[in-house]
Amino acid sequence: MKSIPVSALALGFCLAAPVLQGAGEKGTGRPFYGDPPDDTHAWCVHDRNRPLPRVLKPGDAPGQPPCDATVLFDGKSLDAWESVKDGKPVPARWALKDGFMEVVPKTGILRTKAQFGDCQLHIEWATPDVVVGDGQGRGNSGVFLAGKYEVQVLDSFDNPTYADGGAGSIYAQNPPLVNVSRAPGQWQVYDIVFHPARFDASGAVVCPGSVTVFQNGVLVQDGWAFEGLAGHRARAKFGPHPDRGPLELQDHGNPMRFRNIWIREIPPRAKPTPETVARQRAEIAAKIRDAASKAEGLAKLELLLESLVYQMDPPTLEQADRLAGAYVGDLQKLDAPATKAREAEIKGMRDAFKYLRDKAIVPASFAHLDPIEKLMRARGLKFK
Ligand code: MG
Repeated sequence: MKSIPVSALALGFCLAAPVLQGAGEKGTGRPFYGDPPDDTHAWCVHDRNRPLPRVLKPGDAPGQPPCDATVLFDGKSLDAWESVKDGKPVPARWALKDGFMEVVPKTGILRTKAQFGDCQLHIEWATPDVVVGDGQGRGNSGVFLAGKYEVQVLDSFDNPTYADGGAGSIYAQNPPLVNVSRAPGQWQVYDIVFHPARFDASGAVVCPGSVTVFQNGVLVQDGWAFEGLAGHRARAKFGPHPDRGPLELQDHGNPMRFRNIWIREIPPRAKPTPETVARQRAEIAAKIRDAASKAEGLAKLELLLESLVYQMDPPTLEQADRLAGAYVGDLQKLDAPATKAREAEIKGMRDAFKYLRDKAIVPASFAHLDPIEKLMRARGLKFK
């Protein structure tokens, strides 16, 4: 390693901002703290450089749409919806009533004009208050996610039918965990988290997708991994389909009602690949190196070291090594009262050196931990 004159650095270190200020926002943590990034995680544990969740205004009451939701039906308009006739979209043929929509039997499915994939869906529904029929013939409809996967809608209040066909079932695949149905005519709620299956170029399933359903606030589908697409009588099987499709509501011949329908698009659940993680780590490191290029003294050193946590970069290591050597050299010239006055700063830098060594981020040639600890012991500085 090359050395640089201590005097050139001394001023910078004296004027530097206190150690442990860096790239993160105030109050979001400090570097050299949690376990470092690895092949499957771009960030440290408790990482101040990890993006904070965006701020979202929730609905005014439970069940009301948050500010980023797409409201598909607010009780006043069917503009977001269409029917299908002879294979072609036509204006919605279901009835718009006082705050709700109602199936007009034999008009066919109602579907959204827009297409959705991974999503959170809120939808409220009611079966007819006058009971007609039984089993699958009583209060039947369905929520078809991406037009491909059916969460069954049925009057399952004291209405026995096959288990994989009741309200809250993934039709023909998985019964609900419990039957939490309300009585006929009462409004019921589904809150659904949906991830469609993914396919490779050959049409093979890469990920089967999943669905979680709460009915009336109670969990009825716990991340069910789809066995295939919606069907009837036959064992479900997959066929490749796009990542998105319309939300469809089924016309099963019963005058079912729906209201307060909103949807939020959410990210796919696919785990990041090592390539994605490596790219993220490189981006974070570059950002911190850029901040270091504008910083001076101790803050510069700290940022250079922090960048190495995300990505080893030999020129950065060499620069950090020089600065660290100069920093420790400066400290060794101070008397005991002067080092005591900077105890917190010195301990912070020692902790950084120790983290980098313990986590095997820097090579053995980065040898500043032993000298700074020796100095701290000699001057009676605290290690904790
Ligand atoms: Mg159905």
